[in-house]
Amino acid sequence: MDFSFQRDHQAFQEVLQAFAQTELLANYTRWDREATFPRDMWRKLGQLGVTALRVDEAYGGAGADAIMAGIAAEEVARGDFNLAYSVILHSLVGEILNQHASEDIKASYLPSLANGERVFAIAVTEPDAGSDAAAMRTRAERRGDRYILTGEKSGISAAAVADVFLVFAKTDVNAGAKGISAFVVPADTPGVSVKRYEDMGSIPIARGSVVLDHVEIALENRVGAENRGFYEVMNGFDLSRILIALQCIGAALQSLDETMAFVKVRHSFGQPLAKYQGVSFQIAEHYTKLQMVRWHCYRTLWLRDALQPHTMEAAMAKWMGPKTAVEAIHQCILLNGHYGYTKDLPLEQRLRDVIGLEIGDGTAQTQQMIIARELLGKAYKPY
Ligand SMILES: Cc1cc2nc3c(=O)[nH]c(=O)nc-3n(C[C@H](O)[C@H](O)[C@H](O)COP(=O)(O)OP(=O)(O)OC[C@H]3O[C@@H](n4cnc5c(N)ncnc54)[C@H](O)[C@@H]3O)c2cc1C
Repeated sequence: MDFSFQRDHQAFQEVLQAFAQTELLANYTRWDREATFPRDMWRKLGQLGVTALRVDEAYGGAGADAIMAGIAAEEVARGDFNLAYSVILHSLVGEILNQHASEDIKASYLPSLANGERVFAIAVTEPDAGSDAAAMRTRAERRGDRYILTGEKSGISAAAVADVFLVFAKTDVNAGAKGISAFVVPADTPGVSVKRYEDMGSIPIARGSVVLDHVEIALENRVGAENRGFYEVMNGFDLSRILIALQCIGAALQSLDETMAFVKVRHSFGQPLAKYQGVSFQIAEHYTKLQMVRWHCYRTLWLRDALQPHTMEAAMAKWMGPKTAVEAIHQCILLNGHYGYTKDLPLEQRLRDVIGLEIGDGTAQTQQMIIARELLGKAYKPY
């Protein structure tokens, strides 16, 4: 066993730590208040290689392992939780296109995904199909050398700012999960329109709906084999689930660091707050829980890199990462007293932002269903 990061992991971690503290943290709350998507910063992250991690070098990517993507999710989220979506979305879509898209699609899309010039989003959820994604109704009808896509995708991260969507749609309406395919759909294709939501958190990420009204796309825009989208392409979600967990943990560890600095200088009853076990044990408890989940995440990324099964472990990470982070940040707010409740500190925003990912990419119950299915066997799944 070897639990240490390799030298290149450490070097990248140090670069990102410095960048997150100097360039991201100072602007995190401003972008929320102004409701602006910092496209320039997304590009800067592209220059650092953050958006290129799961893309082969032949297409301008970094060809990095999954552990490197985990480090990026954690460290970028320490500075700005929302910009860490660049790691999640571009690792997920980048890996899927890299593995399953045609050569033409890879050559036309991957370089701009890798360098952060274009923003890529993933569209699975629909107004009537969330946890039960296989119940989606968006259709992709084949007409000669084209597909016609019609339907509505909802809850999509970066919907209002994305340049390209990876859209999942039914190519066989009678085949359930076995009738779904994935398609690359540029946001400026005629028939595509988006509607931005007013969310509680992650406001710069501009979540929203994507309406597809008879959107015509070429055959080669299909990613992977027809009707295999759910099985081939959705394997990517095992990666995004672990990265989301580390994104949430990064935000929570940053909150704990800030809170530790505060309780050392804030006094009550003549002593620093940090001297009271009512305070220090809270910090000890949340730090312990976060580190346990964090190392579970890195082990799961290691399993992915080693091409070993890790669907159950990814679901555990996705369940426990956001949950543990939310609990820790909540406690940090309380330990900062009334200052913690103000918008002067980034804590309330982190709580709003992180809660979203208790839902996004599958709720706690969805993850528990996966864990139970893997443990008890498919014969006992409830659907
Ligand atoms: C911040 C954020 C980002 C997102 N980003 C994206 C994105 O980029 N792309 C995308 O496609 N989607 C995205 N989503 C959508 C997200 O994936 C879905 O919201 C999620 O899968 C849940 O689906 P739903 O909202 O339809 O809830 P539902 O499926 O209607 O579930 C509602 C509640 O019922 C529970 N539930 C449902 N079925 C069961 C069951 N069988 N047993 C027990 N409990 C059950 C759920 O856990 C949940 O608590 C995002 C959502 C959020 C909040």
